[in-house]
Amino acid sequence: MQAIGLPPDLPPDWQARALEKLDELLHKYRSLQVYLDICVRCGACADKCPFFRGTGDPKNMPVARAELLRKVYRYYYTAGKKSPKTARAEPLTEETLKEWFTYFYQCSECRRCSVFCPFGIDTAEITIAAREIMASVGIANKYVSEVIANVYRTGNNIGIPDAAWKDNCEFLEEELKDETGLDIRLPVDEEGVDVLLVPPSADNFVNLETMKGYAKVFHAAGISWTTSAYASEAANFGLFLNFHNMKRINRRIVEEARRLKVKKIVFGECGHAWRAAMYTATLNGPLDFLETPYPIHCTEFTLALLKQGAIKLDPTANDEYIVTYHDPCNVARAGGPLEEPRALLKASCNHFEEMPAHTIREYTFCCGGGGGLLSDEVMEVRMAGGKMRAEALKTTRANRLATICAICKAQFRKLLPHYEIEAEVEGVHSFVGRAILLNRGG
Ligand code: SF4
Ligand code: SF4
Repeated sequence: MQAIGLPPDLPPDWQARALEKLDELLHKYRSLQVYLDICVRCGACADKCPFFRGTGDPKNMPVARAELLRKVYRYYYTAGKKSPKTARAEPLTEETLKEWFTYFYQCSECRRCSVFCPFGIDTAEITIAAREIMASVGIANKYVSEVIANVYRTGNNIGIPDAAWKDNCEFLEEELKDETGLDIRLPVDEEGVDVLLVPPSADNFVNLETMKGYAKVFHAAGISWTTSAYASEAANFGLFLNFHNMKRINRRIVEEARRLKVKKIVFGECGHAWRAAMYTATLNGPLDFLETPYPIHCTEFTLALLKQGAIKLDPTANDEYIVTYHDPCNVARAGGPLEEPRALLKASCNHFEEMPAHTIREYTFCCGGGGGLLSDEVMEVRMAGGKMRAEALKTTRANRLATICAICKAQFRKLLPHYEIEAEVEGVHSFVGRAILLNRGG
């Protein structure tokens, strides 16, 4: 806990510290106070949460989840202290903290509820605030804490050292040579190139076809690029814990871009990394050493190359697949891209089908593993949380599920067998990588 700046145990003055943090957040984020004040308990959000739909637990309704913090807020910030029963107000107790830990860690911060709230209340922001308050008194999900500690120790979530990062890049170069006969590079720590690619580390160790897909795009377009062994992770689990860690994790990427003197940072296929990356100018700016626009998502980058004619795709390369697309929540409900991944898939595959309209784009259902839930310890909750996505997937004929998030990919590898769905999950750049015509620079 100390490695990530949290108290090791619940401190004796925990209540004062927690209330101080609540006060700080209320003053820092006016939106939080508005969200706590304006809910009219209409219930429009209730059945929109994938975790309520999957678990059936009424405390997983967004309005009930938020009520866990609202009742404490009412006690200390309204007349609730004088007439707690009438105001439905309660003081912050250790019992409250236990309930917070259970239910704020059964929310993946997916924001689906916010799309349906007539007032635009974003319960994910309430979850984020509650987790921040808990972190201030040393209460955090073990999985999230360990992942963040790994990033500080090794540069990536899975705790792989620099040498292994480089070895794997060389291994993929050899594989690409065998497959294509070309010298397609996966450079590491090269200074003065155009692009720093920051993928989720899982792309270099698990989602290998996605990683090779990025390399083929750079090769075919003739763009110089590099990865970084120091910033070998796009994912930012700070988003699931507290602001301090989110900022510190993101800073590594900006520092590395400066050191390597690149012109652009392109983020790989990682949902919540993208959500954090969108705030980089605010978190770690100014970014005036980079070319605009900033930040750049890999699907925006690749689609722009396709539109410019810098790369060409042959969709027959994916003819054996019927492909559908899962919008990761942190992309779909944090400003997109929504259409770029679809455009790339349609250009790379002849057989593309959408899931039902109320389950895609900004209405997408969480895979069940987001928000720091991708741990075996909460497998039952994960499988329940992904139920709505699995049901939507069953309405298609797809034998391939494409997505642009490493957490979603890892979750689907458990979820699809659990719901007896005979499809495999891959990155969008896997399909691009198979379809791309490699006739330059080899
Ligand atoms: S943010 Fe997502 S998981 Fe959390 S309460 Fe809303 S719908 Fe449920
Ligand atoms: S939809 Fe909005 S106003 Fe209605 S209960 Fe949910 S959060 Fe409250």
